[in-house]
Amino acid sequence: MKKGKKLYEGKAKIIYACAEKNLVIQHFKDDATAFNNQKKSVIEGKGILNNRISEHILTCLSQAGIKNHLVKRINMREQLIKYVSIIPIEFIVRNIATGSLTKRLGIEEGTVLDNPLIEYCLKDDKLGDPLISKEHILTFKWATKKEIEKIDKQLNRINDFLVGMFRGVGIKLVDFKVEFGRLKNSNEVILADEISPDTCRLWDMNTDKKLDKDRFRNNLGNLVEAYQDVARRLGILHEQSNIRPIKFPRPKAVKLKKNK
Ligand code: 5GP
Repeated sequence: MKKGKKLYEGKAKIIYACAEKNLVIQHFKDDATAFNNQKKSVIEGKGILNNRISEHILTCLSQAGIKNHLVKRINMREQLIKYVSIIPIEFIVRNIATGSLTKRLGIEEGTVLDNPLIEYCLKDDKLGDPLISKEHILTFKWATKKEIEKIDKQLNRINDFLVGMFRGVGIKLVDFKVEFGRLKNSNEVILADEISPDTCRLWDMNTDKKLDKDRFRNNLGNLVEAYQDVARRLGILHEQSNIRPIKFPRPKAVKLKKNK
């Protein structure tokens, strides 16, 4: 699929037009940003891993009946996706208290929530993605009541599915952020963007080791290794991709006897 002109560049992805009117190409960059763009870096290989992990998760969600924008992965860094106009809201679902929730409300880090907590943030970097209420969404017409009701139901289903999927591979799904968009031709709201260790908090079940973007946010290092661990556990990174070349001892030079 040939790439057309650049339509949009975000912090971690670029959207390109393509020959199909209702489809676009989503390119995963290696750029990492945190704290509203104040911390920036390029982490080689991150985009490739997020492309593969997000493809896997969105494919599983689609099989579970959660419609989303993914058509197919087309190469190491790119996916063909349905063209949507993104609703300007970050939808956050939390199972365990950490991050901005603990800072904002003083909830003890690691508190397991009785029920998943849904939060809405306005997607606006200049304002620092502020927390908003359902009333803000309706008052400023960022989405309709019907759309939000449908999205809330889907968020709970996505959370149930992902909690189970990650639990099966020894990972706690602490929280995640997703985005939804309206299809260009029908206005139907579907899940969009990506679901990856960039957008989720993932802790090892036994050790609580962080396997997500908090490794970058909190200078913990080894981000690519953690994302590889997630991919390997999900069965989408095969062992040989992590095997270092085996060093064989150099064969000793053998002197050939000259034919007399
Ligand atoms: P918090 O509000 O605690 O910072 O984040 C809650 C969850 O949403 C975390 O899993 C975090 O990774 C995700 N999240 C929130 N805002 C963003 C964002 O702007 N970009 C990305 N990639 N993830 C976000």
